[in-house]
Amino acid sequence: MALMEPVITRKARAILLRRIEYGDHDVVLTFLTAEEGKVSAFAKNAKKSIKRFSGVLELFTLLEVVIRQGRGLPYLDEASIESPFESIRTDYLRMAYAGYWSEITVQWLEEGVPQKRLFTLFKTALDALHDARRSPGTVSVLFQLLFLDIAGFAPTLWVCSGCGKGMEKLPRRKVSFDLERGGLVCETCRKECTQRVALAAGTVMKLRWIMEQGLSKAFRVKFSLAAEAEALTLLEHFLPRHLGREPRSLGFLGEIRRSRG
Ligand SMILES: [Zn+2]
Repeated sequence: MALMEPVITRKARAILLRRIEYGDHDVVLTFLTAEEGKVSAFAKNAKKSIKRFSGVLELFTLLEVVIRQGRGLPYLDEASIESPFESIRTDYLRMAYAGYWSEITVQWLEEGVPQKRLFTLFKTALDALHDARRSPGTVSVLFQLLFLDIAGFAPTLWVCSGCGKGMEKLPRRKVSFDLERGGLVCETCRKECTQRVALAAGTVMKLRWIMEQGLSKAFRVKFSLAAEAEALTLLEHFLPRHLGREPRSLGFLGEIRRSRG
């Protein structure tokens, strides 16, 4: 008598981060969930089955999914849309930001480890990115900084990352951030560092404020264009260094930004 394969189905709220075509009919999907972190699943016949998944499996959509676990890679049984965030996919710049966040998330996360904070951060960031009144660059500063905090790589912003001297009071001229040490550096330690980014005191204050407020309040922050550009330069250099690989989506994001002037 053949043993029945144990089948477990589970329901989850999930953000679709990546889809890879598999053969002629199937796709492999990677989701972010709160309870299980990164989850990959096969969607059988997703490219053909208009009835089951048509228009549902779009990137950066918040879904409710039912996943069936047999042997091997789980299968997607059902998917319905909770928030389509459609304005993200009709704007190249917003799409490029969401693509970058997805790539670093997929790169950093292990399968099956709970990620409640990261799920909430990602959902909050997509909500803000979908809102036409919000600057996508500012939303990306928030996402990256809070992502670094969750990942345990929060930048050192209150003391010198070289000697530990307090840096609550900032000089009028620009402050140096050492990419190697992962934080601000004082005038003395500055001389030893080779890879640094210059930040205006006002930009550092904004970054500190975001770290202090945390996810629930930080999304109200507003940046000047100059401060936003400085913070993006810093974080887009700092974050890939700590993840160990340059995300491909960062190149695409840079091209889109340059084309918009
Ligand atoms: Zn120092």
